[in-house]
Amino acid sequence: MESAPEQDRRRRIDAARRDRVVRAAAAAGLVGPRHAAAGFLDVDGVRRTIADLHAAFGPDVPVLHAFAVKAAALVPVLRLVADAGMGCEVASPGELALARAAGLPADRIVLDSPAKTAAELAEAVELGVAVNADNLQELQRIAALPALGRSGSVFGLRVNPQVGAGTIGAMSTASEHSKFGEPLRDPGARARVLDAFDRYPWLTRLHVHVGSQGCWPDLIASGIRATWELAEEINRRAGRRRVTSLDLGGGLPVNFADDEVRPSHAEYAALLRAAVPGLFSGEYTLVTEFGRSVVAKNGFTAARVEYTKEVGGRRIALTHAGAHLATRTVFMPDAWPLRVGVHRPDGTRREGPEEIQDVAGPCCFAGDVVARGRALPRIEPGDLVVLHDTGGYYTSAHWAYNSLARPAVHGFTAADGPVRFATVRPEQTLAEIAAEAGAAHADALAALNPTGPGNPGTGGDDTGGAAG
Ligand SMILES: *Cc1c(COP(=O)(O)O)cnc(C)c1O
Repeated sequence: MESAPEQDRRRRIDAARRDRVVRAAAAAGLVGPRHAAAGFLDVDGVRRTIADLHAAFGPDVPVLHAFAVKAAALVPVLRLVADAGMGCEVASPGELALARAAGLPADRIVLDSPAKTAAELAEAVELGVAVNADNLQELQRIAALPALGRSGSVFGLRVNPQVGAGTIGAMSTASEHSKFGEPLRDPGARARVLDAFDRYPWLTRLHVHVGSQGCWPDLIASGIRATWELAEEINRRAGRRRVTSLDLGGGLPVNFADDEVRPSHAEYAALLRAAVPGLFSGEYTLVTEFGRSVVAKNGFTAARVEYTKEVGGRRIALTHAGAHLATRTVFMPDAWPLRVGVHRPDGTRREGPEEIQDVAGPCCFAGDVVARGRALPRIEPGDLVVLHDTGGYYTSAHWAYNSLARPAVHGFTAADGPVRFATVRPEQTLAEIAAEAGAAHADALAALNPTGPGNPGTGGDDTGGAAG
């Protein structure tokens, strides 16, 4: 996968263009005095990445590239990726609702929720979205659905090839004890999967997702190879094509260290062609579920610096980029380091002498630091810090700690002349924060025991006595 032509095809994120967008965002007031932080998504970049993905798999195999919605659970983003030719992979009733709100037709939606309820399954089968069951109990539940016979759904079974873990345990889904899918290597497990295909004629797909970030492409490919081998075995046993499609999952790792896109979708597809040629024979319809590799490098987060100070001989910038926007980075800094750019209040990038500094966030806990001991140009109050490569899983997946406002997300295009922005999601208002915190039920708890404190049990309920 390191052949020269492949390397030549690697793209770099255009840093000068990103700087131009930060300046335009500051000039437009999208981040700065009035907005403490905002996420930005490169619409041109997303379209190009998706075109690269389609080109990588080529026209010779039928393939549905389903965008993993959790990577950017925003309706306009889903509409954009659909417009660029992708479907959606959804993992909860909420994500399914977003895909439908974006206008995705049922035959371009794949439902992978890890713990699907009976109601969720019934809805999926009614709609006709593809369903990947996590386990054999779920297959039993599907078999009992009244709408099964008239459903347009494609049904798959997720398997865990148990090929091992990548560098981030929490992101590795094909390890020995992973919670996902039916294991293939445990004693008797393979026979149970074969038996399920004997039993359920509507089961026609195998699904595998080896892991997300930190799983190297050859590990992913070995899991896919094991899944393809199982499909071949099922088909041989049946004497016909019982498995007609393979869902290969997502998980292509993203390079957070610099602006190069590596590995590229083209490199990954070339690796798969070499490791599992049978995938590309045309005998199987393919599904992929890329999330991070579609959006991560096509987005950034910008946040205002409020104060700076010297503590223990080191400069700390107190900014609005914290754990609410970069949760994984704050809690697992070694697994999820982010590059930070320093820009003046007008958005121009600071260069020049660097000093070791911490970039801290606004959350009320001491560990709320997005970059620790980092060599950066001297940060000043009013500056903007830019977290690179946060187009997926970061600002779009805000954490509500401290009731900090969920920031706005803006899309931009800079392809033809001046930078143009479009609101994907506005910043959360204080009224919305209060409403989501139960403001409409403000009296609910105080009114539950109207006699007030110090009189437990006098409301006539018997729980006070039982507790005593
Ligand atoms: C998270 C997930 C994906 C997407 O993973 P990325 O690393 O974002 O590409 C795809 N499929 C399943 C089942 C997932 O859980």
